[in-house]
Amino acid sequence: MKFVTEYRDAAAAAEYAAAITRVTTRPWTIMEICGGQTHSIVKFGIDELLPKKITLVHGPGCPVCVTPLELIDKAIAIAGRPEVIFCSFGDMLRVPGSERDLFEVKARGGDVRILYSPMDALKIAKENPDKQVVFFAVGFETTAPAHAMAVHQAKQEGIKNFSILVSHVLVPPAMEAILGSPENRVQGFLAAGHVCTVMGFEEYYPIAAKYKAPIVVTGFEPLDILQGILMCVTQLEEGRAEVENQYTRSVRRQGNRGAQELIGKVFRVVARKWRGVGEIPASGLGLRPEFAEYDAELKFGLTEYTAEESSECISGEVLCGVKKPAECPAFGVICTPEKPLGAPMVSNEGACAAYYRYRRMEVQSKAAGKV
Ligand code: SF4
Repeated sequence: MKFVTEYRDAAAAAEYAAAITRVTTRPWTIMEICGGQTHSIVKFGIDELLPKKITLVHGPGCPVCVTPLELIDKAIAIAGRPEVIFCSFGDMLRVPGSERDLFEVKARGGDVRILYSPMDALKIAKENPDKQVVFFAVGFETTAPAHAMAVHQAKQEGIKNFSILVSHVLVPPAMEAILGSPENRVQGFLAAGHVCTVMGFEEYYPIAAKYKAPIVVTGFEPLDILQGILMCVTQLEEGRAEVENQYTRSVRRQGNRGAQELIGKVFRVVARKWRGVGEIPASGLGLRPEFAEYDAELKFGLTEYTAEESSECISGEVLCGVKKPAECPAFGVICTPEKPLGAPMVSNEGACAAYYRYRRMEVQSKAAGKV
């Protein structure tokens, strides 16, 4: 297949769904890690093609959703300073902090800019030597190489007015945290294809073996996801727990060694808090001491700040696959994309946003007993 339309072919999708039905004899719960996969599943109704015995639950693979409240507050504090140009991916601007969001800072006159690349922020720093330019470095292994590149280049060029607010998280420790939780109901994973494009999938072998959970590296188009589910269910039915690669057109076992080297040069593995989940050991990236001058938390003296999350938002349970978005009492009632209570309702990859966009009427009708 060469074109996107071919990966969305309805007849082929029906064949995969029939194959999944044929191999399924027992109930299985499978988690798709990535929020991009969640949106494909809900948008294309993939879950509705599956036999009732298969339950898909959504994972913590949305970088906006898992950024902890205190880092949003830190971003807001930095962005409100008069000497700062604060740069971020667009989704982060509407994520609620303890009292406001970055949009409000912008509305009040803060210089908050939406960018698509940290290299653009570095360019802005060079053009504005009298300002401090800060980039909000959120994401998984996928965005880490670009952030590492920007910091590395800033150091090489001796640029002093650039820094990043780091909120990098790593997928495999989160999978272990989910599988090791007493509330866990996940029996197999669809691993995020783009993360594996960078990191490969060797890290998954010990996880699959330890927890006896198949892990299938999976892409994002409907046929990718259906094939990934078929591979996962087949393993579960056969009592296997192996790492398999559905996304062979993009992912190699060893990943992108050049990108991994660059990440390793600039970042080190640290404990990270995940929004709604709490701290997971060795689950994030922080700047190495030799790049400390590019750490915005250090530069602006914000390392000690902490914040309490709202008890109304059950994003932790949603992100760990314990509950579905519509099971949150606030869903569509006091939490909407216009007035979000939590990040999963804001982000383009958020599970709550996906259900609100594609399933809201159906969910609300069911709740009202009309279906
Ligand atoms: S619906 Fe809103 S309040 Fe509920 S989990 Fe999702 S983001 Fe949080």
